[in-house]
Amino acid sequence: MESLTFDLMEQYDYEHLIFCQEKNVGLKAIIAIHNTILGPAAGGTRMWTYATEVDAMKDAMRLARGMTYKWAAADVNLGGGKCVVIGDPKREKTEQLLRALGRAIQRLNGLFLTGPDVGTNLHDMEIMRRESRYVVAVSESLGGPGDTSSETAFGVIQGMRACLNAVYGSSDLQGRTVAVQGVGAVGGDVVAQLVKAGAIVTITDVDQEKVAHIAAEYGVKTVPAEEIYSLPVDVYCPCALGAVLNDATIPALRCKIVCGSANNQLAEDRHGEMIAQREIVYAPDYIVNAGGALTNIDSLAPGGFNRQRAHATVARIYQNMEQLLEISREQGIPT
Ligand code: NAD
Repeated sequence: MESLTFDLMEQYDYEHLIFCQEKNVGLKAIIAIHNTILGPAAGGTRMWTYATEVDAMKDAMRLARGMTYKWAAADVNLGGGKCVVIGDPKREKTEQLLRALGRAIQRLNGLFLTGPDVGTNLHDMEIMRRESRYVVAVSESLGGPGDTSSETAFGVIQGMRACLNAVYGSSDLQGRTVAVQGVGAVGGDVVAQLVKAGAIVTITDVDQEKVAHIAAEYGVKTVPAEEIYSLPVDVYCPCALGAVLNDATIPALRCKIVCGSANNQLAEDRHGEMIAQREIVYAPDYIVNAGGALTNIDSLAPGGFNRQRAHATVARIYQNMEQLLEISREQGIPT
């Protein structure tokens, strides 16, 4: 029997692929549930103009699998899931569509929990929340953590410190050189935290306004976007796009460590091996960029969200990264 969908699902053993549709409001969404062994699946809702349905399916599945790893590596009893909505968030994201998606998520009765991702924001979550209590990321006024990108940035810094300790025997950022690619919500905050800790930072972004703003605010150096890969620095910190570690960029790297927030940094799995051969320490995105996700799911604890407790959980990304480095050493992967 010819089968595209089941073949895709079998590749990494997905449990469910759920299609949500409501004609009147133009809702076309796919929820991928990768693995619920540890608990209900949790992951963001992304809205994007996918060229084909298969692209949307594959993106949902790839991201859901990443969430399984993210929760497991952070020792959280949740499974991996992700929702993608097919459409242009600038033109097609309406209250009716979001509410219809909220109802679809509610019908799953807790199999899938969600928050914002590319193309959606906290305001959208609050609309979806009117239909579903399984929308867990909300603003401070509704008892949630609000914007969590600074916690994502804090997690990246914690992971970076663990890598520095492995390479130099000290987690101190004072005087360390860091190249930050992308100074958006997370990258901008990473720069702030690095500068505060005494690191010497160089930044780039395709958005020149953001570059000018961050450079002026923190007095950091700037380089054109294509030069960021080859800077001779302690840490290259990708906080923009995925697939930045590929056949073209890996040979150009002159850093000791790669540690940043961008999702899916390796263009293909084999690029992990290429980086190891270059004796560069690589901090997996799903470990070091978990800070925002860990903060959002703190709301699930009895009694609701507690900022201090959430921050302490994010701080443990240091230990999570250290554990991974230990396992890598045991397996003979250079650190
Ligand atoms: P953002 O959109 O606020 O920032 C991304 C920045 O990257 C923008 O300023 C953009 O102009 C810049 N950029 C795009 N292409 C670039 C290029 N080729 N070279 C240099 N800069 C480029 O997004 P964000 O929320 O800061 O997220 C950054 C990355 O971290 C994304 O990959 C995201 O998936 C990941 N991430 C974010 C969070 C979070 O809490 N926001 C959590 C986990 C992972």
